[in-house]
Amino acid sequence: SAHSLSELRAVNSFAALPAVFHTRLAPQALNNPRLLHANADAARLIGLDPSVLSTPEFLGVFSGAQPLPGGDTLAAVYSGHQFGVWAGQLGDGRAHLLGEVEGPEGAWELQLKGSGMTPYSRMGDGRAVLRSSVREYLASEAMHGLGVPTTRALALVVSDDPVMRETVETAAIVTRMSPSFVRFGSFEHWSSRRQPDQLRILTDYVIDRYYPECREAGNGEPADADVLNLLRAVTRRTARLMADWQAVGFCHGVMNTDNMSILGLTLDYGPYGFMDGFRLGHVCNHSDTEGRYSWNRQPSVALWNLYRLGGSLHALVPDVEGLRAVLDEFEPAFTSAFHSRMAAKLGLAAWRPDDEPLLDDLLKLMDANQADFTLSWRRLADAVSGQRSPFEDLFIDRPAASAWLDRLLARHAQDGRPPAEVAAGMNGVNPLYVLRNHLAEEAIRAAKSGDAGEIDTLLKLLRNPYVEQPGHEKYAGLPPDWAGGIEVSCSS
Ligand code: AMP
Ligand code: MG
Ligand code: MG
Repeated sequence: SAHSLSELRAVNSFAALPAVFHTRLAPQALNNPRLLHANADAARLIGLDPSVLSTPEFLGVFSGAQPLPGGDTLAAVYSGHQFGVWAGQLGDGRAHLLGEVEGPEGAWELQLKGSGMTPYSRMGDGRAVLRSSVREYLASEAMHGLGVPTTRALALVVSDDPVMRETVETAAIVTRMSPSFVRFGSFEHWSSRRQPDQLRILTDYVIDRYYPECREAGNGEPADADVLNLLRAVTRRTARLMADWQAVGFCHGVMNTDNMSILGLTLDYGPYGFMDGFRLGHVCNHSDTEGRYSWNRQPSVALWNLYRLGGSLHALVPDVEGLRAVLDEFEPAFTSAFHSRMAAKLGLAAWRPDDEPLLDDLLKLMDANQADFTLSWRRLADAVSGQRSPFEDLFIDRPAASAWLDRLLARHAQDGRPPAEVAAGMNGVNPLYVLRNHLAEEAIRAAKSGDAGEIDTLLKLLRNPYVEQPGHEKYAGLPPDWAGGIEVSCSS
């Protein structure tokens, strides 16, 4: 593995696109930067020896002061719909792509976020505050630990540079890693400008580099069939991603089309939330006053966003019926992924159509009682092992919870599998540790005084969220009362 950054193998495929796709420019470095945390797991993905993480060279690059050796630093351009409204050109307003490097299992783009203004910053200052940077850093790794497709995070660099939000905060830079940061909005950018040639170049690039299996002809420019194949692949990945989010009680918070990864990854962690008390219509983002991105709407919003992508690709593929037929695959793909995840969470050998009321009634019961999402699922396995009260304790309407549990256990009896095996399977898919808002908040408080201990502890737990780790009861418990008062918004 590489023992210095200059030993990394640069690829820079996005930088090789025509100049209109990006602007080459240096980041605005943080003053007096400190490395608050670096992620050895992510470093391994790019073949970087963990010993490099503590070097001045590493801090220089990931504080924005030095370019990545061999990298091509740039800000990419994209547009998008925000809260259902066309917003035009949006970004990268505060991100710099440092370059793309080849790792042992594939190439990764390294991107600074909060690294200063770009030609696409609009009214923004190009910065990101410590608070939101810690949240992004932790959430990327928490989602990865849960097995949910996501961008990753390599480093978190902090400073005393003041940043004006509701109050004065301090600037930080989080380094994100992804095979690609191309979004639905990257496609909308060119279709909205009626530049099908650029759209075709982008589509061609994405197919060749990330979806080679979508290429039917094998040579030349993408044919209609290849573009439809791409839309189908993105539709399927997005459908599975939505099933993953729903299954772990994750709310993204800002499902604008510029935050939808063309690779079906969770992208752009802002005012996200892992639910504590369950509400079907839970809204995690305080700025989302209409509840557009509530938990139960996420799958249909994803489809709405896919329609925007399909609409963009229409500039290349005149076959509207063909595009629509592909988008029609979203719902069955989501439903089947969701049902298989829910079957596993319930401890069923397989989903049966007549299991729908069992699931619906649990969700309704949890909603009515605002039962804790994570613990309600996790404690089902205790009930299978004969301990009913940990689950029932989570419900104000205890008799209703108990009656529902009887139905679940009767359903298990139909499968006839050994309870110990069923319980172990359930614990393998119902996490004990999730990045609850108050846990992130405690990590942020410590980080503000330069203490990364809480970030470190959380990363260790969240890397293995399905395995109980002794001595960490506080991370597995119900949230404290003050958690209900935490407001997360688009301010970042
Ligand atoms: P978001 O809703 O966080 O995805 O942000 C939408 C777009 O606004 C992003 O693509 C960013 O480029 C841009 N943006 C957000 N915050 C800032 C900021 N402080 N300065 C410049 N651009 C920003
Ligand atoms: Mg964004
Ligand atoms: Mg954001």
